[in-house]
Amino acid sequence: MSEIRKHYFLDEYCIIASGRSKRPSAPKACDEGRRSSECFFCHGNEMKTPPATAVYKDGDVLRDNDDQRVSGWDVRCFPNLFPALSPDAKDISSSDHGVMKGYGFHEVIVESPDHEDRLHLFDDERLLLLMRVYRDRTLYYQAKDGIEYVSLFKNWGKKAGASLEHTHSQLIATPLMPPSLLKEMRAMSILERCPYCDIVEKEKDKERLVYENHDFIVIAPFCSKVPYELWILPREHISHISGFNDDMLLSLGKCLGAVISDLDRTIPELAYNYMLFQIEDPDYHFNIRIQPVTSIAAGFEKNTDIYINPVPPELAVEHLLNGSRSLHLRE
Ligand SMILES: [Zn+2]
Ligand SMILES: [Zn+2]
Repeated sequence: MSEIRKHYFLDEYCIIASGRSKRPSAPKACDEGRRSSECFFCHGNEMKTPPATAVYKDGDVLRDNDDQRVSGWDVRCFPNLFPALSPDAKDISSSDHGVMKGYGFHEVIVESPDHEDRLHLFDDERLLLLMRVYRDRTLYYQAKDGIEYVSLFKNWGKKAGASLEHTHSQLIATPLMPPSLLKEMRAMSILERCPYCDIVEKEKDKERLVYENHDFIVIAPFCSKVPYELWILPREHISHISGFNDDMLLSLGKCLGAVISDLDRTIPELAYNYMLFQIEDPDYHFNIRIQPVTSIAAGFEKNTDIYINPVPPELAVEHLLNGSRSLHLRE
């Protein structure tokens, strides 16, 4: 039996086709990754990357020199060697409609010096550090001239677009606000109250709740586009990561660690993307969307932008909470 479900407040639809439901299987996520001796992101190989713009070490934030690198680091941020956008982009002479110079910044955030490390195994101290790094780096690039949006995301597993297996996140600062966020803001502007606050209110006691703590809830959204999609939402109406104090950053890190651990236990050879959605506009409501990659968008999705999801979110939650360490209402 299929069901066409509408997004909470956008004109977007998905098809929940539970008749096709199977536990997901994905190809081995990192089977062709480089070994640690060859990995540019491993400690000891710092000279193989550009100088770091920020190195987090023992509570300090340092920078590399051109010919010297900081060793013994906890988290290391440096420009992507093959950037999607660059601060040195040349002016475009063409007056063709729709052409802009590719100005912006593209940074890699290596979350651990250790090649074998996994985000869902981080302790609280390291989860908090990573969330602080997310906050610092977002604010750093948000303040740059000509930057309209900072996209922060993580690709885990080859199938999710990660070319290296060493755990890392990326940040791309763009000179334009993404149309998808403008569309959301337009839809939100005609509503009487924030629709995300409504989602928190509606879903906090429902069968789509996966995890909660004092500051955040994690849900499998009613309109999940892909199997095991999860959204992290602050209970309070806060639009941007700069609005979180350290207690909240730790709560946020705990959410990520807990639900990625759940996904890892549930989905064989897990691959996923997660993305931070945030705007420095008091009307917006910060959220993180985690989308496991268990299949690829095909002709129907590209034709209609309607996603067929074979795992109803309510069933996904059952699977996720079914493990030996049920996380429901933990803490
Ligand atoms: Zn490595
Ligand atoms: Zn809100």
